[in-house]
Amino acid sequence: MRAVIKVGTSTLTHGTGQLNIRRVEELCRVMSDLKNAGHELIMVSSGAIGMGRGKLGLHERPSDIPGKQAAAAVGQCELMYVYDKQFSEYHHNVAQILVTAQDVEDPVRRQNFENTLFRLLEWNALPIINENDTVATAELGIGDNDTLAGVSAVCARADLLVLLSDIDGLYDADPRKNPDAKLIPEVPEITPEVEALAGGSGSSLGTGGMTTKLTAARLATEAGIDMIIANGDHPTILYDIFDGKPVGTHFLGKREGSNHDNA
Ligand code: GLU
Repeated sequence: MRAVIKVGTSTLTHGTGQLNIRRVEELCRVMSDLKNAGHELIMVSSGAIGMGRGKLGLHERPSDIPGKQAAAAVGQCELMYVYDKQFSEYHHNVAQILVTAQDVEDPVRRQNFENTLFRLLEWNALPIINENDTVATAELGIGDNDTLAGVSAVCARADLLVLLSDIDGLYDADPRKNPDAKLIPEVPEITPEVEALAGGSGSSLGTGGMTTKLTAARLATEAGIDMIIANGDHPTILYDIFDGKPVGTHFLGKREGSNHDNA
């Protein structure tokens, strides 16, 4: 299986902005094992700004654009250093790919991105993608790594996109406010009702970044790619996902000529 796995800053770092060592070690071990089992993996990793903040000892995340860009410049090195060190322990090579919106919007540049991705997979390297935050300003950028992960899954012709988050999946109400909120295990189609749950239509459920996760789901499922939102607290959850066990919320990719009710 070819899968894109996206990890967010909250999975990689503690609230202090410092690296969550235990979690990152576990993530890299599990992903290495999945690669050893023959899966083709691509990672989309956030954390450049967060880790830059931690490394520079800034008390809070910078809010202005030059501050974010400077923190990302420091943090991106640290991020790749950590991944290189961890994956090297299991004899896997990591490859950094930094993209901007123009790189995926312009057909020629997008093709270059795809060519590089495919060559890296052929060479059994692990592409680790992030937005090139030091040059992509908020107005021009892709803006968030959920969307970037959706775009990357499409470019890579992936079978599966996994978004590891700090929430278990999509709920039928806001789980942080409503204790009776229930996890939705499967989304066969992104209907206006589903969009409303993610806060897209003026609902109060804007937490957990569900809006951008639905953007990713739309991109992926339209291209026939399944997407799963799962909690990244314990990266061993990836084993369950690759074993096909029901985990988190599963958005079903569109299949040509069939619908999921009888597929
Ligand atoms: N590219 C940003 C970073 O590495 C993260 C953006 C996001 O998490 O959506 O800090």
